[in-house]
Amino acid sequence: MTLFDIHTHTPHNINCDVYSYKYIENTFPDKFNDMLGTHNYFSCGIHPWYASNWRYKLALLEEIANNNSVLAIGECGLDKVRGLSIDLQINIFKAHIKISERVQKPLIIHCVRAWDMLLSICKESKPTQTWIVHGFRGKPMLAKSLALSGMSLSFGGVFNSESISVTPIDKIFLETDDSDIDIFDVYNKVAGEMNISIDLLANKVEDNVKKVFGRIV
Ligand SMILES: [Zn+2]
Repeated sequence: MTLFDIHTHTPHNINCDVYSYKYIENTFPDKFNDMLGTHNYFSCGIHPWYASNWRYKLALLEEIANNNSVLAIGECGLDKVRGLSIDLQINIFKAHIKISERVQKPLIIHCVRAWDMLLSICKESKPTQTWIVHGFRGKPMLAKSLALSGMSLSFGGVFNSESISVTPIDKIFLETDDSDIDIFDVYNKVAGEMNISIDLLANKVEDNVKKVFGRIV
């Protein structure tokens, strides 16, 4: 059985002999070439914190998005606390949506205090690709409305436990992002919260990963 870390900036091996381990490493358009060949599974996009020279980075991403080792577009998104003006962030985010639809790959989303915007952009763009809100720590009401609009949620080491229980199991992904936590510990914590075994959770997450990221399983 395999544990999947669908979003990490700092991959590290897991302390566990029972499960194997696969991860999707996040990278940025201007860093992708250096990463290529070091690993098989990447996501690539313009993080709203690092969006300087975004026209150039977007042009790079248009090409990179076709690469077989890129399994998802992003992380990209909206951050009202940090980054460029929100109008500019929206334009850049919409460009990522277009790319995700063109290459038929899921979108990994970073969202901070811009939930209404995210929901309304989702409504107007009617994506055919899966949108995954990564590092979700929000409250259950928000988890519910994101899931209702079709989005999946990715949980890391810190989360609201009630949000786990209201999220449909076919919309759950797990990740370590930029933390030092072991993905096995995230599975352990989430399974405990759901009152199910790690094996069952791993099975369900594997189904989701297969459906959304295909080739990695
Ligand atoms: Zn991240």
